[in-house]
Amino acid sequence: MKILTILGARPQFIKAATVSRQLKAVGIKEVIVHTGQHFDHNMSQVFFEEMDIPVPDYNLNINTLSHGAMTGRMMEAVEGIIINEKPEVVMVYGDTNSTLAGALAAVKLKVPVAHVEAGLRSFNMEMPEEINRILTDRISSHLFCPTQLSVQNLMDEGFENFNASIILSGDVMLDAALFYGAISEKKSTIIKNLSLKDGFVLSTIHRQENTDNSQRLSSIVDGLNQIHRSVPVVVPMHPRTAKILESLSIKPDFFAIDPVGYFDMVELIKHSSMVITDSGGLQKEAFFFDKPCITLREETEWVELVDNGFNTLSGLTSNDILTTWQTMSQRALNFNVDLYGNGKASERIAKYLQNL
Ligand code: UDP
Repeated sequence: MKILTILGARPQFIKAATVSRQLKAVGIKEVIVHTGQHFDHNMSQVFFEEMDIPVPDYNLNINTLSHGAMTGRMMEAVEGIIINEKPEVVMVYGDTNSTLAGALAAVKLKVPVAHVEAGLRSFNMEMPEEINRILTDRISSHLFCPTQLSVQNLMDEGFENFNASIILSGDVMLDAALFYGAISEKKSTIIKNLSLKDGFVLSTIHRQENTDNSQRLSSIVDGLNQIHRSVPVVVPMHPRTAKILESLSIKPDFFAIDPVGYFDMVELIKHSSMVITDSGGLQKEAFFFDKPCITLREETEWVELVDNGFNTLSGLTSNDILTTWQTMSQRALNFNVDLYGNGKASERIAKYLQNL
């Protein structure tokens, strides 16, 4: 069997890493297309190198365009590749423009789409990611859901009546956290290089709704600056956020560093006392490594983390962020709960595809 995998953005490289390994293990031939949505070395290449992801067979180099132009050009290019490669399945991950473009190109050529991380919903249609994931799910034939709730979301939308298989696979990000987390200490020197002492706060900010609103971004920076007066705050800065910050009058007092590779990131999480983020993936990784998390958004797709007290949605004024941090610092948590499967989601996905 031949599968065409469409990747383009940082979280997709991380999700694909363990799946690629399992596809190879069951003898499926994988052809990888990198759309180029993320292209800086430390947003892309570093993950392929560190995580042993096979070198992409195609590099489309499509980036820094409006949503429509980016999605359209990706779709056109992927269409040509599908016609050429004739895969039996096209595999897409998550919720980016690359996900939607790959899925649309495939389904119109009548090639079945497999969607990893299906069924997630924020119920906020202003998020580009929500639009991408809803449309991708609807045109996919194989829906690999990370959680029971994501299965339920699809049921609620009537997916039982559609010609698609819903598979509760577990979360491939847990597989990655377990696999690479076991070796990250040997592979990373970031804690030493930055002379960090355990207990700092790790934060990332990159969601469009936070970065494109300068008042909101200023409040977030102010909130993190205030926390930094009590506990060091370390922020691997997404290129989009770094660029917008240049135009704001407020400046970070905290440790703003360049984006880091996965091993460094895992070490930063392990040595932190808390994560404050608007990232989807990082909310779960905080939980995987037993750290409380504050999410700087009005809603989250990972509701089970909030329901179990591991994650709190914070208001977005600087004062909200400071007080939520104080409250979360006091919260006693027992992380001994399975919410995302058993770390074998990638294996399950590969075996399912092999049996098609
Ligand atoms: N990440 C990383 N280096 C960084 C920041 C994040 O390796 O400097 C990882 C993080 O650990 C997680 C993934 O990138 O696995 C999350 O990606 P991102 O926040 O860009 O996207 P989202 O999960 O919100 O879709």
